[in-house]
Amino acid sequence: MPLLGAHLSIRGGLKNIEKQCKYLNCATFQIFSKNQLRWYAPPIEEDDLLEFKKFVAKENISAFVIHSSYLINIASSNDHLRKKSINALVDELRRAEILGASVFVLHPGSPRKPEKVVTGLKRVIDALCRAIEESNVKKVKIAVENTAGSGYLLGKNLHELVSIVEGVEKCGYEIGVCIDTAHAFQSGYTLDDRFINDLYNLLGRKILVVHINDSLTEQGSRKDRHANIGKGHISLDFFESLVNDNRLSDIPFILETPGGLAMFKKDIETLRSMINEKV
Ligand SMILES: [Zn+2]
Repeated sequence: MPLLGAHLSIRGGLKNIEKQCKYLNCATFQIFSKNQLRWYAPPIEEDDLLEFKKFVAKENISAFVIHSSYLINIASSNDHLRKKSINALVDELRRAEILGASVFVLHPGSPRKPEKVVTGLKRVIDALCRAIEESNVKKVKIAVENTAGSGYLLGKNLHELVSIVEGVEKCGYEIGVCIDTAHAFQSGYTLDDRFINDLYNLLGRKILVVHINDSLTEQGSRKDRHANIGKGHISLDFFESLVNDNRLSDIPFILETPGGLAMFKKDIETLRSMINEKV
């Protein structure tokens, strides 16, 4: 069975995670470790950290996810922004490790100008290797997320993710991927049982997180708009196959759907109702 959860708000501090998680009856969750629209963040308070860790242990949360802030762009062709992004990534990786997260999700970024994809991917690989080395994190693993592919965004297909994973492996570090169902659909994939098989054959145990979102926009739209489960263009059959796939059990399935907590609860219930429990 997959671990079902949602992207929770850290407004009001880490202590508010517990309340949200209990309301949703979630088995996992995703958070930002800081204000996602600012470069700087104060260190995590010791008391907050202890409380948070107590809650994670008490609720038996075996894995949770930190999502990187939106400012980071390690694919940038602007050296200044790229350097700033690598420094921020180092800081956020350390924060994720301190919090005890198992996975840190990162978008590959965009060169923001036309250039060969391979040039952008090289910058991403180089930046990841440098950030992992400098941060010296041991437990938290980076998962690079696929994107809807708008503009010059990297990560618009699974092969670009494979290139990044293999490139980083060459400098001696292991990373994985996060698959966002809405982004996969928006970037053009047909989401069905064959997609799940192809995905698993290509990436297997490198799949560390699934962002389980329906899509408000059509297949191949390259427009990143999420919808609640069953309210978008992705078939419910696909979601049913995904949550029942044993190969993907025990990894976090995170909702990033609109409508706040009440809608997360509804989406989690919809997904749970699809799971065929073994008797
Ligand atoms: Zn996502």
